[in-house]
Amino acid sequence: MTAIHHRRTTCRLCNSANVELAFALAPSPLAEAYLPPERAHEADVRYPQDVYLCHDCGGVQQLDVIDATALFRDYQYTSATSPGLKAHFDRYATDVIRRFKPASNSLVCEIGSNDGTLLRFFKAEGMRVVGVDPAEKIAFVATLNGIPTYRAFMNAETAAAIVRDHGGAAIVCANNVLAHAEEPGVILDGVREVLADDGVFVFEVSYLPDLLAANACDWCYAEHSIYPTVGSYNSLFHRHGMEIFDVQRVHTKGGSIRCFTQKIGCPQKKWSSISSFMNAEVNGDQLYNGAVCGRIRDIATYRAFIRRVNAIRDQTVACLQEYCDRNLRVIGYGASATTTTLLHHFKIGGLLDYLVDDNPQRHGLVSPGYKLPVKSPQELYGKDRPDAVLVTAWRFAAEIMQRHRDYKGVWILPLPHFQEIAT
Ligand SMILES: [Zn+2]
Repeated sequence: MTAIHHRRTTCRLCNSANVELAFALAPSPLAEAYLPPERAHEADVRYPQDVYLCHDCGGVQQLDVIDATALFRDYQYTSATSPGLKAHFDRYATDVIRRFKPASNSLVCEIGSNDGTLLRFFKAEGMRVVGVDPAEKIAFVATLNGIPTYRAFMNAETAAAIVRDHGGAAIVCANNVLAHAEEPGVILDGVREVLADDGVFVFEVSYLPDLLAANACDWCYAEHSIYPTVGSYNSLFHRHGMEIFDVQRVHTKGGSIRCFTQKIGCPQKKWSSISSFMNAEVNGDQLYNGAVCGRIRDIATYRAFIRRVNAIRDQTVACLQEYCDRNLRVIGYGASATTTTLLHHFKIGGLLDYLVDDNPQRHGLVSPGYKLPVKSPQELYGKDRPDAVLVTAWRFAAEIMQRHRDYKGVWILPLPHFQEIAT
């Protein structure tokens, strides 16, 4: 325990104490804490990465809570620099406007609006927009760039301020926000307050069955502390006076769901998609990314998951150790939050020379924990080129390998299954 960390004893979604450890990853520092070299000497505190299943609501989550103010103060992730996300947000805004047809000049509010990338697309469609984001610098820059942004967490108080300044919202959006709140119910109380009675709240979150099927242990870190399913979120929404009326699959972030919700009893029709998702989650017979993930409310599903992950870890360690023993140089491709969990759970940071990343804002920083320097992908070429590249950004492996088809060395993919690919 530190001043910024505590462990809950109850479920973040329903407050039940009927929670059981599902699997434990190795402790890890804050996943996004990439620092300039002059701060490299700062000691990293490592936090538990234990994931629990709530037997009452089916919520899967970490119970260790990092104080959100500390978590987001230095937050550097910006949507505009994330691969493919701009095009995704453009389609997202168009789809929502076409489906719900809000009157021109209606208010659209986004929770966790980051640099305003999504809201800018709504603004271009003739909507008034307002963002809510706790990260100081990001909120300031977004406001300067024409996207008015409240530097705050969403709750009933922030919602009341928005209603006072701008009126009720026809559309509220939140992307990957409901997956890291200490208590997502607090956000929902704000949403219910800010939403007009015929308004729609749309949110996207990564989807637990996809995480399990892809052995994606690296998706677990403090900013992603809840692993959503339609079943657990359906009961969460009901407890806060809201209901999900439709669910769609989207392919961002390795597999996500987009849920459409409203205040209970409001005009949108309820679609059968909700029961299809919930049945598949309970029966565990659905294919996700070509694999079956198992029954979502059965603890055996998580025990099987961690066995698969640890077998892949052992293969990866053996492979990297062999390169190291032969004095060959291996680097990592991808310096993101997921990289931090992957390197710490697999304990392989010490076997890598450095990391490269496509985002120039990361270059010159050092990684959390192992303090690996982050460089440009140009390092893949020239006489000092690495002998092998571990693709820590394995979700983007195909496009990375295609873009760097002139690289002469070995590609190592840790997940979803270990692979070594010689060029
Ligand atoms: Zn629960």
